[in-house]
Amino acid sequence: MNAPLPGHAVAEISSPEMLQGEGVGCHSGAERLRAATAASGKSELLDQYASDYPKGPHDQPQSMCPAFGSLRVGLRMRRTATILCGSACCVYGLTFTSHFYGAKRTVGYVPFNSESLVTGKLFEDIREAVFKLADPANYDAIVIINLCVPTASGVPLQLLPPEINGVRIIGIDVPGFGVPTHAEAKDVLAGAMLRYARAEVKAGPVQTPRGGRSAKPAIALLGEMFPVDPIGIGMMLEPLGLAAGPVVPTREWRELYAALDCIAVAAIHPFYTASLREFEAAGRPVIASAPVGRDGTEAWLQAVGEIASVPQSQIDAAKNRILPAIEAALAKTPIKGRITLSGYEGSELLVARLLVESGADLRYCGTACPRTPWSAPDCEWLEARGVRVQFRASLEQDLAAMAEFRPDLAIGTTPVVQAAKQAAIPALYFTNLISARPLMGPAGAGSLATVINVAIANKGRFDDMKSFFGAVGDGYAAGVWQDVPKPREEFREHTRRQVIKMMKKRKAQEMI
Ligand code: SF4
Repeated sequence: MNAPLPGHAVAEISSPEMLQGEGVGCHSGAERLRAATAASGKSELLDQYASDYPKGPHDQPQSMCPAFGSLRVGLRMRRTATILCGSACCVYGLTFTSHFYGAKRTVGYVPFNSESLVTGKLFEDIREAVFKLADPANYDAIVIINLCVPTASGVPLQLLPPEINGVRIIGIDVPGFGVPTHAEAKDVLAGAMLRYARAEVKAGPVQTPRGGRSAKPAIALLGEMFPVDPIGIGMMLEPLGLAAGPVVPTREWRELYAALDCIAVAAIHPFYTASLREFEAAGRPVIASAPVGRDGTEAWLQAVGEIASVPQSQIDAAKNRILPAIEAALAKTPIKGRITLSGYEGSELLVARLLVESGADLRYCGTACPRTPWSAPDCEWLEARGVRVQFRASLEQDLAAMAEFRPDLAIGTTPVVQAAKQAAIPALYFTNLISARPLMGPAGAGSLATVINVAIANKGRFDDMKSFFGAVGDGYAAGVWQDVPKPREEFREHTRRQVIKMMKKRKAQEMI
């Protein structure tokens, strides 16, 4: 074991014994992790998360590890190093996913074992890693992300110095038992960075944006978007005498200052609670919803114009210029068919609006994100048109909606799409196929129609396949066999009894 770095004591980990044993992770043990976190002095953090990201019907993540959201935000920023601290299996999964999604950066990792976790040496290792990496020639910032076990153990990232050699140090806890979705984990890091940048702005002059300050008053855009969308939004703001500001999460540290410098922030994705708190603290008003479809764009231009004190005649002129193009695009590419929609990106309600305006018979819109004040206009608009909106939707609710409405097309997450295809319902992945298209203004109107209409038209192929394969591939008899397997109820019953016994044992251990 190495000696601690000079100048500070080894950080005590107050509750490591609560984390010992099998099965502590997102698949089980959330209660134990929460209790350990509170015991380790981080109950304030958990309270803040509970208020920012209220829990839904499920107490564990139903999509990828939430920390992926923070990791992705860090990996996409220039001159930013991102380090994970967590169990090796979690880090393996997160690293794999980030490279699957095209990260061209190294993911840093500070490993631990029982000893380094229990003795507090892990914090020393993190500190040492951060000092080694903090070279201002390479980095503006270093982000350290505590995953579930280090968070629950109370590894005190807040004791790291705020900067080393001019490199900013941002330590965040992103446990799966406190941050329900990877979408909200983006907010955890974006909010922490905005808070840091706001303090820097208050302390004195800061760097200007790479392209210089905007000559026009600008609107910051909150939420990851398809790259064409910010450009399209800029074109819609231009007749109002305004410009599009940076997109938060930003791609570079100095863009954070430019974002805070904007006259208002558009909550394009409405779940960025911590980030919006920082904008509001900086005196920047928040604009809800987004310029999607005809009605959405009309309302959004009006709201932006009013906040920026643009004369009504100029707002009307901007609408007259933009809205006919949207109407024409929607009319040219109608969508026909019954659809259910679900996802975990946070843009589900915007996509839903666009589908309805395109003529789709949309019955259900489920989002894994929570209801916030900034999702209210979209929710009201959809409900007024007969769409059932489900915030914090669980997989079970998404599947139930699909079973209830028997759509011509199900748009959803991987397990929803899988279930739809098994039922011979055409389906599209929200993340890969819907999120990867423009949604805003004239470019967004009609952008979904082609892919959706082609998918709906595939129904006949699903029916053909279903009748060709018959019952082959169903349930326990899946695959090609010489003798089709027989269900063995006695084995199932034996396993069931074993599981019940194991659960009882665990419960008893928890109560000791
Ligand atoms: S860090 Fe992510 S993968 Fe690991 S236990 Fe927590 S939620 Fe699950």
